[in-house]
Amino acid sequence: MIYLDYNASTPCAPEVVEAMLPYFSERFANASATTYSMAWQCDEAVKRARNNIATHLNVSPKEILFTSGATESINMALKGLYELYSSTAVINDAPLHIITSSTEHSAVLMTCDYLSKYKNVTVTYLPVDQHGIIKVQDFENAIQPGTFLAIFALANNETGVIQPLETIASLCKERKILLFSDTTQAVGKIQVDPKKIGIDIACMSGHKLYGPKGIGALYISQKNPRVRLNPLHHGGKQEDSWRAGTLNVPGIVGMGKAVEMIDINTFQQLATWRDELENALAQHFSMLINGHGAPRLANVSNISIEGIRASELIKNIHHELGISLGSACNAGSNKPSHVLTAMQVPINFIDGSIRISLGKYTTFKEISITIDLLKQHITTILNNNL
Ligand code: PLP
Repeated sequence: MIYLDYNASTPCAPEVVEAMLPYFSERFANASATTYSMAWQCDEAVKRARNNIATHLNVSPKEILFTSGATESINMALKGLYELYSSTAVINDAPLHIITSSTEHSAVLMTCDYLSKYKNVTVTYLPVDQHGIIKVQDFENAIQPGTFLAIFALANNETGVIQPLETIASLCKERKILLFSDTTQAVGKIQVDPKKIGIDIACMSGHKLYGPKGIGALYISQKNPRVRLNPLHHGGKQEDSWRAGTLNVPGIVGMGKAVEMIDINTFQQLATWRDELENALAQHFSMLINGHGAPRLANVSNISIEGIRASELIKNIHHELGISLGSACNAGSNKPSHVLTAMQVPINFIDGSIRISLGKYTTFKEISITIDLLKQHITTILNNNL
């Protein structure tokens, strides 16, 4: 099977597996133990991984916390900030308010939904234009006296659209609003420098960048501004009491290695094959390339083909080709993607939407086979529909 769903998950790079292996059964100690050398070795390995990630993001290692993945990082940040702000009534007693966009990942949308249903927070979901971009004016208009947090993904998981966050970030600074960015899909694909952009808190995930599953990180700015939040997990003093629980040393080592191996320039070259694939299909079919008018990640193609149901196409090719219906999180649901709906993809196209995401192990041969397979299967469906 040709795998072209790298935005859903990536394989662990062999170098990552090799780096992790000793930490399962040779150096397996608890990294927080202090009385013997094996534990110190584990602690050193955690420090190296934290340094690798901090160096890559151009931040201090003190600003990196390990979590179990981006979903946990998002929950920890949003709920932890809410708890701190609600308990200290930092904002003039005005009702707490969050601004986000309608195209965020479900981990953000569902956490916001929870906060608005059970915690008395109001949430404004900004619309996007047809290219998936938020209007700065809409953001400014949405600010209320109680707005304490803005949440915008740097790169969208379904379309790869890169959100230009700099202007929003400076508005946030001016109005003393914290900016959380879901950088899960951006890290490893474009250079992410939170301090330069003006992002105060950001999340990432090992399995999106050729590291293992079940490990993630949260960047929390400790200088200009010094962000504080209430912990979600209570227990031991790991991660300076920000997140209790025995550290996942093999996972942390794997993620550190994966980040060390990031090569943005080589990754950018995937755009050539992605464009070839899109052009080849566009010559044959009536289709939309979603997010085409905005800056996009080099590896993602989200296309909507008129007159077919993507679910039928996927059913016919799923043994040969691993691609997704809009987003892995929407697979199995009959509802059209909330991202494409927000981008106002017309009704006659939206049901025919697929996401193809290339990765570092993709070959040109795989792309040419994929073009042929898709042409053949889409043509069959269109002919059957005549
Ligand atoms: N945010 C984005 C943009 C994602 O693409 C994903 C994964 O699909 C997540 C968050 C959740 O990541 P994890 O699988 O590490 O919980």
